Amino acid sequence: MSNAEKGSLYEEALKTLREAAAILKLEPEIVDAIANPEQALIVSIPIKMDNGKVKTFTGYRVHHSTARGPAKGGIRYHPNVCLDEVKSLAFWMSIKNAVVGIPYGGGKGGIACNPKEMSQGELERLTRGYSAAIARFVGSDIDIPAPDVGTNAQIMGWFADEYYKIAGKHEPGVITSKPLSIGGSLGRVTATGRGGFFVTVEAAKAFNIPLKGARVSIQGYGNVAQPIAQYLHELGCKIVAVSDSVGGVYNPEGMDPLKLVEYKEKTRSVKGFPESKEISTNDPLTVDCDILVPSALENQITKENADKIKAKIIVELANGPTTPEADKILQEKGVIVLPDVLANAGGVTVSYFEWVQNRMGYYWTEEEVDEKLKHVMTKAFKEVYEIAKQYKINLRTAAYTLAVKKIFEAMQALGRI
Ligand code: NAD
Repeated sequence: MSNAEKGSLYEEALKTLREAAAILKLEPEIVDAIANPEQALIVSIPIKMDNGKVKTFTGYRVHHSTARGPAKGGIRYHPNVCLDEVKSLAFWMSIKNAVVGIPYGGGKGGIACNPKEMSQGELERLTRGYSAAIARFVGSDIDIPAPDVGTNAQIMGWFADEYYKIAGKHEPGVITSKPLSIGGSLGRVTATGRGGFFVTVEAAKAFNIPLKGARVSIQGYGNVAQPIAQYLHELGCKIVAVSDSVGGVYNPEGMDPLKLVEYKEKTRSVKGFPESKEISTNDPLTVDCDILVPSALENQITKENADKIKAKIIVELANGPTTPEADKILQEKGVIVLPDVLANAGGVTVSYFEWVQNRMGYYWTEEEVDEKLKHVMTKAFKEVYEIAKQYKINLRTAAYTLAVKKIFEAMQALGRI
């Protein structure tokens, strides 16, 4: 079922905004001003397919908010992309960027297409067509895209090249997560996992959960999960369960995260990893563990399985892994949820560092990037935690409260409300 058929994802997305607005005692008219996207662009992109026929794709780019800075958010290539989904994703970016305090608003874009069924040539023509169609809507001081589901560093490179031709200048800050050879940042590849790690360390201190010997379970052993597994392992945690879309493995004594990566690279899955018991793709959610890291897709922790979760702490590296019903069950059980808008914000934070370096024309070492990321993530956790204590609310509502307050103050300072 596509998002368009499920009813409005955007209306769902606004529910936590309304909770935060109630805590801040904002009037309904103000909430509308904060909630509604500023601008939405819909474009048609006809391209020649490899079979010689023309096919027309629909692309989107939404600026949810530019009150705190230029719009910033990824580009998604997926068959379910529609305006409602892009609006929701853009809204979440406004929240995420405000939570970690980087000087951006929120934006998002996408094309309804299936990149898995397209050749490299078709993807390049589609990306160049999209870049040309939205060129007047983006720019390093306007809106800065990045990758999301179905897009990667190569697609960023094609997008940038087409934009440079139209703009008639080199402007690497127009897009982030570029390959290193054209102005990408060191540390970007591991940034989301690294940021999640810093937040986990702070949360463990705040809630008195010892990390040495803590058992970690991970659903979705991909880009964001592999680095956090390694960092937690180095701290003395045991990686007891991991899975991917093919299957999962469990060993209560712990598994070596790097060996799991090597095995997955060879066989394309963690399934069958030696000295482990086979489990299903979803079993990591409910195995006996202390820290659960959902790192696959949205809506994985639901009202059907939330009650079976044994972890003390959930680190949401995936976007939207927990449904609102499941969130309530977890709260009643006393499970600490480190919300996606905080836990996975390390990726956009290092994208911000890339943009800063592009604008300076001067590049930092990996150590410098890491130190700055640690500072941003640690500070954001502490701010969210203080709000949670002050209003006696969970960390998700606290993160939204922090973000909505910052967006509100920026809109007020600009005289927009
Ligand atoms: P990825 O494709 O590298 O990894 C996802 C992994 O999940 C893959 O190993 C896949 O096999 C597995 N998977 C898919 N369906 C599964 C299922 N039903 N059960 C178990 N495993 C399953 O993607 P990624 O870049 O690591 O992104 C993962 C999540 O993190 C997404 O929700 C994404 O939006 C979010 N995120 C990513 C970044 C980033 O910087 N890459 C930043 C913020 C948020």
